[in-house]
Amino acid sequence: MAIALDTSVQFLRGVGPRRAEAFHRLGVRVAEDLLYHAPHRYLDATTVTPIGKASVGRDITVVGRVVSKAVMPTRRRLRIFRAVLKDASGVIECAWPGQAFLDRTIKAGQLLLVTGPVKYYHGRQLAPREYVILAEEGDEGALDTEGLVLPVYPATEGLSHRVIRKLIGDHLDTLVAQIDDALPGHLRQQARLIPLKQALVALHRPSKPKGWEPGRRRLAFDELFDMQLVVARARHLAKEATEGLRFELKRELTSSLKDALPFELTKGQKRAVREITDDMTSTTRMHRLLMGDVGTGKTVVALFAMLLALENDYQAVFMAPTELLAEQHGRTIQQLLAPLGLVPEMLLGRLSATEKSAIRRRLASGDARIVVGTHALIQETTSFHRLGLVVIDEQHRFGVEQRAALIAKGQHPDVLLLSATPIPRTLALTLYGDLDICELRERPIGRGDISTSVRTNRDRAAVYKFVKGQCEAGHQAYVVYPVIEESEKMDLKAATTMAQELTKKLAPHEVGLVHGRLKAEERDGVMRRFRDGRVAVLVATTVIEVGIDVPNATVMVVEHPERFGLAQLHQLRGRVGRGEGESHCILLAATESAHPRLKRFATTLDGFRIAELDLQERGMGELVGTRQAGGFNLRFADLAEDADLVELARREALGLIAEDPVLAKREHHPLRRRIERHYERGMELFRVG
Ligand code: ADP
Ligand code: MG
Repeated sequence: MAIALDTSVQFLRGVGPRRAEAFHRLGVRVAEDLLYHAPHRYLDATTVTPIGKASVGRDITVVGRVVSKAVMPTRRRLRIFRAVLKDASGVIECAWPGQAFLDRTIKAGQLLLVTGPVKYYHGRQLAPREYVILAEEGDEGALDTEGLVLPVYPATEGLSHRVIRKLIGDHLDTLVAQIDDALPGHLRQQARLIPLKQALVALHRPSKPKGWEPGRRRLAFDELFDMQLVVARARHLAKEATEGLRFELKRELTSSLKDALPFELTKGQKRAVREITDDMTSTTRMHRLLMGDVGTGKTVVALFAMLLALENDYQAVFMAPTELLAEQHGRTIQQLLAPLGLVPEMLLGRLSATEKSAIRRRLASGDARIVVGTHALIQETTSFHRLGLVVIDEQHRFGVEQRAALIAKGQHPDVLLLSATPIPRTLALTLYGDLDICELRERPIGRGDISTSVRTNRDRAAVYKFVKGQCEAGHQAYVVYPVIEESEKMDLKAATTMAQELTKKLAPHEVGLVHGRLKAEERDGVMRRFRDGRVAVLVATTVIEVGIDVPNATVMVVEHPERFGLAQLHQLRGRVGRGEGESHCILLAATESAHPRLKRFATTLDGFRIAELDLQERGMGELVGTRQAGGFNLRFADLAEDADLVELARREALGLIAEDPVLAKREHHPLRRRIERHYERGMELFRVG
């Protein structure tokens, strides 16, 4: 029977029902899937050293049969697994300390490829960094590996990587011959990508080390492009379905605000205001995300948008995730609006029932035009007379339904989402592909500098002395402790002990403690005391609010900084440097070894740059939820490395969907088919049209 791409793997020569089942576990169902079952690593056998020529001090790769093996005990109770390899030129012993379990995997007669340094220990001994079983006893098939780059495949029980390698090797040419390249040729050339057939061959049968990379890039682009097509389609539908409000730039309240501002807007703020104004004055609905570190002035930008709604006789609402943040934004907005004779309403959970219902009445009648609040805003009892703009701060801290509930209180109001957690643009385009995005990168001038330093435990006394000095000068400080779930009790104890110790060392300055186990009111109580300057030093686990703003705080000490991601450290550092004087972020590391990454962190204050470093450091797979960003499974693309591909895929997908919204044109059918294969749900979007 001829094998087609959609033939079940079971019918491939060498597979059968048992192996097919194992393949299913790996996500391989039809023959075509086999082509996309990519190696997770490669072994370089292009330079195999004859065992007889292995000399001490060199790092080598050898291929040989296992002639004997043993598990050896040592005096220090460390058991060593040893195997002797033999090729035509000689024998060498390989030793794996502490890996006695290998005795179950490695067997006499097997052909092994081993890479590692050659040491001297009662003769030459190889310390394997990596090994791979090339063939079982008696199996001569894979003997000729010299000059090869060996793909190593993700395997599963009942299906070893060797079997997978053999199967893919056997079927690669037949399957690749049937592949259609769905990518329009001009696009492929523009992105300087190789043809799909070549890419698949490069991936499975690289001719030299790194020879797979052009193949990976090509497949990365394909999956990014598919994803962006789905996203672009969703966006197209959303904009088409809901015609938005069309505000008019009357330059009344907005201009008064501009004139009354006690400062000059930053370049980024000006650009954001311009983009938002364009969105709001066009008929399509605004659905925009404004990202910027705490203190980059997002609230001010949002206020322009709110006033634009107001001058068109609409109401505007600003929702924040906590009472504290809502109060803080309320105060900022109140101050900025004072010269205009406008007063924002504040709808907070802690108001009395009477106060709340009074505010709700004013919102329903339209007497209240601008309101700042918390979740209280989305309760059923809140209704608006004419809601035109919804602003949601720290949008990721609300659920989709909560955001939707607030938005539903208007007739297709424009929506502006704020986030103080900058993420790399590539990631934003993936996670929030259906939003327009603007970024605030600069800190407003007039803010004091923040110096970042890395210290170790040895410097502890000096650090305390410094903190005390700052307190004496009338400033305040944070001391942050990481609390991780597995050791929560111990961590909390450490934080509590630290608070006590500091209370003694820093007396008479008051030290407060907040952590996740405190009741919300208690925690808010301590935070308020800190905000009001009565508590001088706040010892906190990472529960301190992301947006909390105490300009008088000038020191941020982070204990165990090595336990935090760089983006998290940056968030913490953002708590200081909010006033005019110089601020200090002191990373108190347990060991010197954490220094290189912390030093890198210390060199920049740009949140977007930090986010990029963080992405590189932790890799895609590590970032929670991004690997499966919105149901998009990225297997080849690396958002840290392939930024150029993400941008290009995004641009081209938007263009293509604008031109052919449901991919109806004949030349786009292959793309349509591919999306259908990968994104069942995404495809529904295309059926609508
Ligand atoms: P974010 O919401 O991004 O954390 P805010 O909008 O609350 O930042 O701004 C923080 C503080 O900085 C506020 O007191 C605000 O008035 C002030 N601010 C905003 N933009 C500027 C600017 N361009 N120059 C100086 N101060 C600014
Ligand atoms: Mg803010």
